[in-house]
Amino acid sequence: MKRSFRGEIFLYYIIVFVFFTVTVLVFQFERERKYKTSQLENTLDNITEVTYKFIQQNNLIGKNEVSRVAELISILPEPNTRITVIDKNGKVLYDSFVKNYPLMENHIARPEVVKAIKEGNGAFIRTSATTKQDFYYYARLYPDCFVRAALVYDVNLKSFLKTSRIFITFMVVLFILVGIVLVWVTFKLSDTITKLKDFAVRAGHNELVEYDTQFPENELGIISTQIIEIYNKLKKTKDDLANEKEKLFNHLDALDEGIAFFSSSKIMTLSNGKFIEIVNLFSKKEVISLEKMLDSTSFNKLNNFIDQHIGKTPGQGESLAKLDYTVSKEEKFFRIQSIIFADNSFEVVITDVTRLEKRRLMKQQLTSNIAHELKTPLSSIRGYLETILENWPIPEEKQKYFLEKAFFQSERLTSLINDISLINNIEDAGELFEMKSIDVKKITNDVYEYFSSKIEHNKIEFIDEVSAGTIINGNESLLFSVFQNLVENSITYGGPGIRIHIKCYHQDERYYYFSFSDTGSGIPKEHLPRIFERFYRVEKGRSRSTGGTGLGLAIVKNAIMLHNGRVSVRNRPKEGVEFMFSLSKK
Ligand code: ADP
Repeated sequence: MKRSFRGEIFLYYIIVFVFFTVTVLVFQFERERKYKTSQLENTLDNITEVTYKFIQQNNLIGKNEVSRVAELISILPEPNTRITVIDKNGKVLYDSFVKNYPLMENHIARPEVVKAIKEGNGAFIRTSATTKQDFYYYARLYPDCFVRAALVYDVNLKSFLKTSRIFITFMVVLFILVGIVLVWVTFKLSDTITKLKDFAVRAGHNELVEYDTQFPENELGIISTQIIEIYNKLKKTKDDLANEKEKLFNHLDALDEGIAFFSSSKIMTLSNGKFIEIVNLFSKKEVISLEKMLDSTSFNKLNNFIDQHIGKTPGQGESLAKLDYTVSKEEKFFRIQSIIFADNSFEVVITDVTRLEKRRLMKQQLTSNIAHELKTPLSSIRGYLETILENWPIPEEKQKYFLEKAFFQSERLTSLINDISLINNIEDAGELFEMKSIDVKKITNDVYEYFSSKIEHNKIEFIDEVSAGTIINGNESLLFSVFQNLVENSITYGGPGIRIHIKCYHQDERYYYFSFSDTGSGIPKEHLPRIFERFYRVEKGRSRSTGGTGLGLAIVKNAIMLHNGRVSVRNRPKEGVEFMFSLSKK
């Protein structure tokens, strides 16, 4: 386990305190030793002085009675003092501790004697061979001899510690007192730190929402408050960022376009679902690896572009490198756009433009079809008028004939142009057709009125089973066009004596379902799938001569689709054709 802040402070405290105590003790001990030593030296100096005076006064050396020094020893304050008298040559003249002193070896080389020769006196501490105790030897040089005094030297640690008991007790008490104060101080200090630690741990686990603990007003408290404030600000920024990111992701996912971001090494960093969907369509097998997203051949152009531009950071004011092209895959068209950013990462946007592209192609084809369709009646009119002009004067009967022909073609031209503009309006501006509640029965009645003479003339049986009150939400003129085109086709292509049958065969919550059928010639099976296309005719020459524009069923289909309905066609089992369609109630 990690040591706590408080534990650490205590450890340091103990180390410092012990170090301090030891230092003080060592210092004290040293002082004590020095003091005792000098005291000892003083005492011994006095003794040598007294001893020499005694020798001198009694002329002991001259009388050769140095052993009388023993009389002196009994009156010395330190009875344990060892006194040695040595002559100038080192010969021991007397020693109070050794009875057989005349046999003692020469003392001239004793360190204290050597020192005394040099400096007048000398001291030395050494262990006595006889008593195994440390002795303090002090020798002094006199005109005719050396006097040496020695005392047991017991200035050791043990005895010092014994004498310093009071001091040590004092230190222990001090240690405890300071310790108590330290507990209090560290408690105060570590309280802030513990709080800060709590905060850090909770922040680390993302548990924290707001932290409003009060810290003391010292530096540590201010630091803590600041840290928490910074943390709160950071957290808010992070949360805001996460929100924005979430929004961005939702936005990306809601897009119809596939969008993805790549690093400069072509590794995908972010994408939406649509992008993955399209990439999988491109490659046919599932691509999940972030590095292989752009491996499909559909991206060849993109890859070349990236390879060319990556690494070339645009200069200031230069625009970013952009690419825009369209690829087709399985009858679908995709626009691929890419931008390389300044940091060499890039973005790829794929848009499914199938509908737009198909529409563009269709419009292109339609325009050429329209031109072609317009040309036919125009050149006919021109032909008839030319014939009249070139053969002028021309008999009135013939004139009338050609003029009637020209008029018929101009009528055709008018209806062609009307149909083209109607279908364009339905497709491009469907919202301009006003929708309201309409009774389908009223429409079928109007259509019947409109064609009544033709119906009668062709002996057609017209059965209208739509009941009054079949209300849908629709545009009157468009619905009229639907039924008008269907009836007109039946009259034109079905032949005389047929039966036209209109009924509403089903309804549900949203739709009415209608059937329009006739008993005419029907439409050859192979033409059925294309019958609703613009300008599509079964027999090209024939329908043109019968006046059809080739747009009738295209108008029917588009008008029904604008009413949210669907239309289909089939041949009836025996004869004739049946159109089935739905119209929305609301
Ligand atoms: P048009 O304006 O030339 O009549 P349509 O789009 O209305 O063009 O019809 C396309 C073709 O479908 C016509 O050329 C015709 O051959 C065929 N057709 C349409 N309705 C019928 C029908 N009721 N019976 C037989 N053939 C039909």
